[in-house]
Amino acid sequence: MIALHDRKACTGCTACAAVCPVQCIQMIPDEEGFLYPVVDTETCIHCGRCEQVCPVSAKREEKSFPQEAYVLQHRDEDVRHESTSGGAFSAIAEWIIGQGGVVFGAAFTDDFTVIHTAVVEKKDLWKFRNSKYVQSDVGRTYEEAAACLSQGRWVCYSGTPCQIEGLAAYLGKPYERLITVDIVCHGVPSPLIWRKYLEMQDGKLGSYAGIRFRDKYYGYKYSTLSFFDRVGKTIYAHGIDTDQMIRAFFSDICDRPSCYHCPFKKRYRVSDFTLWDCFDVFLYDRRMDDDRGTSSVLIHTDKGRQVFSEVKKQARCRQVSPDLLTSCAKEMFHSVSPNPRRGAFFEDARHLSGQELFDRYFPETARVRCARFLRVSMYRLGIYAPVKRVVTRVKRIRRRQRQA
Ligand SMILES: Cc1cc2nc3c(=O)[nH]c(=O)nc-3n(C[C@H](O)[C@H](O)[C@H](O)COP(=O)(O)OP(=O)(O)OC[C@H]3O[C@@H](n4cnc5c(N)ncnc54)[C@H](O)[C@@H]3O)c2cc1C
Repeated sequence: MIALHDRKACTGCTACAAVCPVQCIQMIPDEEGFLYPVVDTETCIHCGRCEQVCPVSAKREEKSFPQEAYVLQHRDEDVRHESTSGGAFSAIAEWIIGQGGVVFGAAFTDDFTVIHTAVVEKKDLWKFRNSKYVQSDVGRTYEEAAACLSQGRWVCYSGTPCQIEGLAAYLGKPYERLITVDIVCHGVPSPLIWRKYLEMQDGKLGSYAGIRFRDKYYGYKYSTLSFFDRVGKTIYAHGIDTDQMIRAFFSDICDRPSCYHCPFKKRYRVSDFTLWDCFDVFLYDRRMDDDRGTSSVLIHTDKGRQVFSEVKKQARCRQVSPDLLTSCAKEMFHSVSPNPRRGAFFEDARHLSGQELFDRYFPETARVRCARFLRVSMYRLGIYAPVKRVVTRVKRIRRRQRQA
C-alpha cells in the first residue's frame, strides 16, 4: 500500500492509482489544492504494485545517449499564433492524427479547470495548444492511452516530465506506436490558487469565453495572459509585470511542493521529444527571429527521429547543436526555490477572497505600472525585440566569463 513517507516528493502523477488492480486509490486534493493518492485500506489487497510503479521511489539513473536538436516554427501562422512557442507540439500531434491516432494533452474544461483529455481530430487540437500554468489532472488518461495502444493505434501523450515518467512507469514496457512529448517545466502552480485568480477575474471582467496563458498579443517576447470574449476579441492582456497570476507563477509562491526538488529536471529523458521556448533563435538563424514564436526541440529516441523526419515537413526548422540548445535552458536542470512567503500565501488563501489575496501579495504599485508602461511603449516603438537581443547577448558573454 502506497504510503506517502515523504509527501513533498509525490508529484501527483497518478501511476499508483492507475496500476491498482482493485482501484482502491483515489486522487484527492489537499488543502493547497494539489492531488495526492489516498488508499481505501478496507479494499487494499497489499499487492505492493502502487509502491513499485512510483517513478519517484524507483528513480532511474540518468544515462547519456545520442540526441538531435532543432529550432522549429510551424508553417501555419494561425497554429503558431495559438501555440506557446513555435507550435512544435501541434506539428507532432498532427502527424499522429494523420496516422489515425489519438492525442492526449492538457486542456481547459468549460469552467477553465485544467485536465488531461484525448482528441482524434486535427480541428480539436487547439484545446491543447498553449501552456496552462496550473497542474493538470490526468484523471484516467493513462489507462485510456494503454487501451488505445493495445488496439494497435498510434498515441501521442504530452505533459510535464513527471506525468510522462508516470505514464512510462505505468505502461511498464515500450510501445512501438507511442510518442511521448514532455516540456521543460518551471513548476506547476496550484489549481486552488488558479481558482482564486479566476474568482477575482470573474468580478473584474464579468463573462469571458477563452483564456490563453501565453498570448502573443504584443509579441512572443512579451507574452500576456489574455482573456477573450465570445467572438475572440481580447478583453484583457497583461504580461509578466502586471498580471497577478503570472507574477505568482514566476515568484514560485504556489508550486507543488515536489517542484522545488524535482527529480525529473534532466537532459536525458524517457520521452521521445522535449519541447521548450526559444527566445534567442537569433543565435542560430537571424531570419527566424520574427517575434512570433519558436520552439526548441530535443529528440531522445530513434522513433522520435523517424517521426520528426515527417513532422518537419510542416515546419521551418534548423538543426542545431544539442549541447548549445540545452545550455540555454536553465529550467531543464534546476528546480525553482520556494518563495519564503509560500506558507503565509497558502494560509491566507484559506480565508481571503481572490482579490484580497492577490492584492496583498502582488499589489499593483507605481513601480509595477511603470514597468508595464515601459515594456508596452518599447513594443509600440518597435524596440523591444532588438533590446532583448542585446540583453541576451550581454548575459551570455557574462555567463561565459564567469565559467572561464
Ligand atoms: C507548467 C509549464 C511550465 C513550463 N515552463 C517552461 C520553462 O520554464 N521554460 C521553457 O522554456 N518552457 C516552459 N514550458 C514549455 C513551453 O511553455 C511550451 O509548452 C513549449 O515551448 C512548447 O510549445 P509549443 O508551441 O510547441 O506547444 P503548445 O501548443 O504550447 O503545446 C503545449 C503542450 O503542453 C501541454 N501542456 C500545456 N499545459 C500543460 C499542463 N498544465 N500540464 C501538462 N501539460 C501541459 C499540452 O498538452 C501541449 O502538449 C512550460 C510549460 C508548462 C505547461
